[in-house]
Amino acid sequence: MPSEAVTASSLAERIDAAARQLESRVIAWRRDLHEHPELGNREFRTAGVVAEHLRRLGLDEVRTGVAHTGVVGLLVGALPGPVVALRADMDALPVSEEVDLPFASKARTTWNGEEVGVMHACGHDAHTAILMGVAEVLAGLRAQLRGSVKFVFQPAEELPPEGEEGGAQMMVAEGALENPVPQAIFGLHVTSRLPLGVIGCRPGPTMASSDRFSIVVHGRQTHGAMPWFGVDPIVTSAQVVLGLQTIVSRGVDISREPAVVTVGMIKGGVRENIIPESVEMRGTIRTFDEPTRDDIHERVTTMAEAISRGSRAGCTVCIRKNYPVTVNDPRLTEQVLPTLDRVAGPGKLLEIPKVTGSEDFSFFQRVVPGVFFFLGVVPPGEDHMTVAPNHSPRFFVDERSLVVGVRALAHVACDFLETGAKPEPAGALAGAAQARSTLAA
Ligand SMILES: [Zn+2]
Ligand SMILES: [Zn+2]
Repeated sequence: MPSEAVTASSLAERIDAAARQLESRVIAWRRDLHEHPELGNREFRTAGVVAEHLRRLGLDEVRTGVAHTGVVGLLVGALPGPVVALRADMDALPVSEEVDLPFASKARTTWNGEEVGVMHACGHDAHTAILMGVAEVLAGLRAQLRGSVKFVFQPAEELPPEGEEGGAQMMVAEGALENPVPQAIFGLHVTSRLPLGVIGCRPGPTMASSDRFSIVVHGRQTHGAMPWFGVDPIVTSAQVVLGLQTIVSRGVDISREPAVVTVGMIKGGVRENIIPESVEMRGTIRTFDEPTRDDIHERVTTMAEAISRGSRAGCTVCIRKNYPVTVNDPRLTEQVLPTLDRVAGPGKLLEIPKVTGSEDFSFFQRVVPGVFFFLGVVPPGEDHMTVAPNHSPRFFVDERSLVVGVRALAHVACDFLETGAKPEPAGALAGAAQARSTLAA
């Protein structure tokens, strides 16, 4: 119907105009958040800024204190329709900033008993500012808005402090996706692996599951000159490390899905001539599907125990599940790709390879279909393959990306509300097909 088409296109134009008008304020919000970063479950000031903003916009509901410091806002449009959720994470990292900016972070705090610098080294300040911008854009268009938009501002994506719960899993447990239940959820992440304004997305498994393990090899302490009187946990641990490296290389079908097993910490011994009593190792496991995840967990345990037994050492293995695989719902992804293509502009939507990093956005996707995509923030002239990555003390965000993020989430939400949860006809991937060939080149 032509009249509906006109309404839809004018809504799109209004979103773009409002985003353009808001750009300098989104940048100002991001700078303020960047200068005042807070770690997971400690986002008190940040949550206050967000909640005040949402209240000022006159949202129909603003819930605070969800999963400690989370904020959930609800905007009900004037026209009936479905519910869509948009998510931004708010926490910073224990990193001391080294970027030379007038609003660089000088914050310091204590984290798990250690004094640390605090920095938005993963760009969650950008995510928060972007979603605040989206809320303002959509609140201004409430009269034309179909259905409702739920704004989910999440704490502790980078894991809560030891001994605490938090993050997306806890938000779900505390009802962030209830009353009303959204039919879809969308989120984005800024990345140093894509040039400014480029959007990266893929259907299906997108980011890895992330689990940590600790292995303690129990030997018997003795003199370093007389190893036959004891049981050496250091040599045994060396064998365990090598054994663990054969799990993926010899045991996982990497032609189907990749996986990673990394030992990142090994601790044992106090001096050169004492064979210690025990050695502790810690590491991480990344996979892209649940069966592989369970299989590797079983293999890590068996391998460490069997090697230790062969050396007459004892062994305690503890594997803790952190985040499930971030899986983009294939139909929903197909539905939003044309929107992302339109927002990014010609040739600027890429189908990206899998990312072995992880995201607790996956917990939301376990409840409702969701799509998580990436937004490039690397300034022109810099090589996105070599610039300081997310989590580096030199991680840098080109702020011209922020307005692209606002437009992307606002358009994705509105297009979903306009069309509902219907799959797009074949051919919707045309724009992404072009991007695919760009990436292959
Ligand atoms: Zn991160
Ligand atoms: Zn992050």
